[in-house]
Amino acid sequence: MKIMIIFGTRPEAIKIAPVVLALRRMTDFSVQVCFTGQHRDMAVPIMKLFGIEPDVRLAITNSSLCASVSEILQQLDTLLSQEQPDLLLVQGDTNSVLAAALAAFYHRIPIGHIEAGLRTFQKFLPYPEEMNRLLTTRLADLHFAPTQQAKDNLLLDNIPEENIFITGNTVIDALYLMLEKIDRSSANGQIIKPALPFLDTSRKLLLLTGHRRENQGEGLEIICNTLKQIASLRDDVQIVYPVHPSPNVKNTVFPLLQDIDNIHLTEPLDYFSFIQLLNKSYCVLTDSGGVQEEAAALGKPVILLRETTERPEIAQMTRVITAGTDGSRILNAVLQLLDTPVQTEICHNPVLGNGDAAERIVRIITEYFRRAGR
Ligand code: UDP
Repeated sequence: MKIMIIFGTRPEAIKIAPVVLALRRMTDFSVQVCFTGQHRDMAVPIMKLFGIEPDVRLAITNSSLCASVSEILQQLDTLLSQEQPDLLLVQGDTNSVLAAALAAFYHRIPIGHIEAGLRTFQKFLPYPEEMNRLLTTRLADLHFAPTQQAKDNLLLDNIPEENIFITGNTVIDALYLMLEKIDRSSANGQIIKPALPFLDTSRKLLLLTGHRRENQGEGLEIICNTLKQIASLRDDVQIVYPVHPSPNVKNTVFPLLQDIDNIHLTEPLDYFSFIQLLNKSYCVLTDSGGVQEEAAALGKPVILLRETTERPEIAQMTRVITAGTDGSRILNAVLQLLDTPVQTEICHNPVLGNGDAAERIVRIITEYFRRAGR
């Protein structure tokens, strides 16, 4: 059986890598990994960290929403005609996911959707991801829901129950693989990658990531100004912000936050370094989905820089304070957490799974082909 896996962005690379590894352990599958080129520089190095080299690279040249979808669609048209996979796998809610699912549908190729069923039920929050998820649900045949809540959302969309499988989230698999790699490096006496020389261990580390389209502009400016305020009020903290390469993010963040003693801005970190940093953090401020999941799995408190969430389960795993882009709520949340001792132990609540989501997905795919008599 030939399975094609599509990925285009950093979070997809992280969440799909464990599935590629698990599929490659099976001899009855031939696995083809296709990179759409959506996050040109950030996604492939992550795959390489997991020892995976894409088999095919599409070349999209335009980052606008319409143009990127249409370019991926056109290029996959040719690729799918040539390769004719028996199943196409996509993960998440990006433009690559929607374009690939649509292309597969036009070619009558069955589609498996990993991390299916996340919803905010608000058309533009997040934008365009909420709509990408909804449309991909309509196109998919196998729905790998990370949690019971996600399954319930799919049932509300009238997806037949027999096509929905609760698997846990593959981000936990990826996180555990990375933690093992970090442990091995430390055990071998290797100096932990010198990517974190800026880390000031005498201060409490506040780790920030923020780049969502709907926060860009005024929201991000408020976040940055609040960080500045926190940095000047509290010299017992160090704020580290790996800044997303989008010009809309960089051009706001750097002028407001550079050259402040206890704020450190970096390029996006490789996954290995980022997880080390996350592990050392006191709390995390983020508008990212994946970072929330990883932080929760490590028991780190999360200050959510969004008003809505498609991941309500995270609050069962760790302390979550929803602050949106409201400066006083962010400030109060940080001060409150700094003045309350925080427990940061690995969370053993398996609401997002315990690291075997990829294996489960592979078992379901095997069974799917068996039932189809293939
Ligand atoms: N991440 C990373 N380096 C960084 C920042 C984030 O490797 O400098 C990883 C992080 O561990 C998480 C993923 O990128 O798994 C989240 O990506 P992003 O926030 O772009 O997307 P989202 O999860 O919101 O879809």
